[in-house]
Amino acid sequence: MNVEILSPHGFCAGVVAALKKAFAVKGRKIYGLHELVHNEIVAERLVARGFVFVETLDEVPDGATVLFSAHGTSPAVRSEAARRNLDVIDATCPFVAKVHKAVRDFAERGLEIVVIGHADHAEVKGIVGEAPAGKVRTATADTLDAIAEELASRGVESIAVVSQTTMNSDEVAAMVARLKERFNVNTTAEVCHATKERQDAVKAFDGDAILVLGSARSSNTNRLCEVARVKAFRAGTMDEVRRIDFSGIRRLGVTGGASTPEDFLDEVVLYLRGLK
Ligand code: SF4
Repeated sequence: MNVEILSPHGFCAGVVAALKKAFAVKGRKIYGLHELVHNEIVAERLVARGFVFVETLDEVPDGATVLFSAHGTSPAVRSEAARRNLDVIDATCPFVAKVHKAVRDFAERGLEIVVIGHADHAEVKGIVGEAPAGKVRTATADTLDAIAEELASRGVESIAVVSQTTMNSDEVAAMVARLKERFNVNTTAEVCHATKERQDAVKAFDGDAILVLGSARSSNTNRLCEVARVKAFRAGTMDEVRRIDFSGIRRLGVTGGASTPEDFLDEVVLYLRGLK
């Protein structure tokens, strides 16, 4: 089997910067609000260095150090951290921060806001938290028409649209185009540069199959599987890789999501090249 490593792949600049901040802290316990990045291997390494991952600020003792993940955090959580006098390390990716700012600007203009993304994702929760409740809703391709219908039925003519940074770039463009058919759309909706580049590399691969390395909980990893034009496998651990049946595949592309460590990809490629 011919194994080709797609480029670019793996850690994006946002993840590298977040990990640098996390690993720079020494000698004190850090509470990470949500996973710093959605990858079990990275999370395990952080835990081994004394990180404690929590889901809410209630689990963080007063005055302790808390790290906000690359996915960003809502203003309500930031205010609560300040009120509790927590020592905050902010690892929010600048691209996510840009989306937060766009939502604040759109909200100031009184616009109804549509966030293209998955409502249960930490990044989307943070973005949604920037707008007044009732002025913002989350849409996926499946729910977009119902949302557009509801807005139109209230006589809304102008809307604002932003996007989670790790969505399928073609899908985001198609959703914005659909909204433009009905509304005057103010938009900054696009995926981040790193997401787009990795998706484009996957779309361009014309071998027999692609192996996408990354966690099942990683949005950008799942989107890489989705945009592939050939059969796509996903694996987050060596065990998962070993369970995949590669028989009949002559040309295999290998890539990693934006939170997948390079040494894991190296280990997998070594294993694949050793397969008979
Ligand atoms: S995937 Fe994009 S938005 Fe997310 S951390 Fe990386 S660069 Fe930032």
